[in-house]
Amino acid sequence: MNRQYEDSDVFAKSLDEKDALNLFREEFYIPKHAGKDVIYFCGNSLGLQPKTANTHLQSELKSWRENGVGGHFTGDKPWVRYHEFSKRPLAELIGSSTQEVVSMNSLTTNLHLLLASFYQPSGDRVKVIVEEGAFPSDHFAVESHMRMKGIDPAQHLEILGLDSNGYLSPQKIAETISQLGQQLALILLPGVQYYTGQLLNIKLITQLAHEVGALAGFDLAHAIGNVPLALHDDQVDFATWCSYKYLNSGPGNVSGIFIHDRHGKSPNTPKLTGWWGHHDHTRFQMKTTFDPMPGADGWQLSNVNVFGTAIHHASLDIFQRAGIQRLRQKSISLTGFLEFLITENVLLNDRVTIITPSNPTERGCQLSLIIKQQGKAIFEKLVSEGIVVDWREPNVIRVAPTPLYNTFTDVYQFYKTLKMILSK
Ligand SMILES: *Cc1c(COP(=O)(O)O)cnc(C)c1O
Repeated sequence: MNRQYEDSDVFAKSLDEKDALNLFREEFYIPKHAGKDVIYFCGNSLGLQPKTANTHLQSELKSWRENGVGGHFTGDKPWVRYHEFSKRPLAELIGSSTQEVVSMNSLTTNLHLLLASFYQPSGDRVKVIVEEGAFPSDHFAVESHMRMKGIDPAQHLEILGLDSNGYLSPQKIAETISQLGQQLALILLPGVQYYTGQLLNIKLITQLAHEVGALAGFDLAHAIGNVPLALHDDQVDFATWCSYKYLNSGPGNVSGIFIHDRHGKSPNTPKLTGWWGHHDHTRFQMKTTFDPMPGADGWQLSNVNVFGTAIHHASLDIFQRAGIQRLRQKSISLTGFLEFLITENVLLNDRVTIITPSNPTERGCQLSLIIKQQGKAIFEKLVSEGIVVDWREPNVIRVAPTPLYNTFTDVYQFYKTLKMILSK
């Protein structure tokens, strides 16, 4: 019995009153259902719109309207330096220097650019490890790089098997890496697995990969803005993410990359290049001898998509004020409360299995629930009650209470509704 929590409305309200971050909810638009705010637990798929998104966007539209091409050089955020303004807040979120991070492109595009740099098979060292049930885009990207290099994925792409409950066990990861040894070129894993919500030990995995002379890269789509990260100190080689999930920057908006300084500072790291990665001292001399920007900036291809990035800035500004460490503290108790309610209630405990690890150090905010019978029908009833969660075949509902705009009362309301549906 977990004595930290109580199964009551009043208790949920009391936690909300004590929550130092509760005012941040006011900074977001909450969609409505039948005239009432929905309970939005889908920030792991598409985060909500910050109210300031419009102001940030309008300011750049105004600059374009009034200055035309001059917008590149005027205003408080001139477009020629526009990629620089997201560096500080992103570096705080991922635990890096500003030189190691840049926002650009979309997630799968960046994955390709990073694989082009960091998947360099040579001799026997050709193998790549990904996890079973990886997000298809990541799997496809890796396979395509192997094929382009004449390496057969059927033989050399190692799929790290999950335990029967969906768990990626650290022992298994360690064993697989050490078995492959000198044949391993790269391990590419998620920070937080999108289906199960498991948070992996990035530091340990990176260390194990390095011990056999391989590289370690991470897809942080479900980790950034969800859990604090320390990519530089963890010695991660490279990472990428998207900004439209926990980062609330809008559908399809700009991604970002992390390149560890030991690669970013070296002019010998191979990369696909474009004019925006050329050193900004001489970029506009338009010479064709490539002189890379130091750090992650050298991977930029094109000039910045200002309108998307403007909205990204609006969101990052909120994260800077809230602070990822404080958000994580709240997140642990918000998700802990949800877990408590599901596991302590006899009916729910009987009908629902949580596949996300119960140890808070092995998960972010998401819980993935297996609904043992009639999952799809139960999911649809939740939706019709104004609860936004998502459905993953064959029987999983993913529930992601996010600390920026969700409340303990949201969690309680979800629990009461699910209990009502299951008891019918
Ligand atoms: C969300 C997500 C994607 C989506 O890729 P896009 O290029 O942004 O469409 C890819 N991989 C993972 C692991 C994701 O969670």
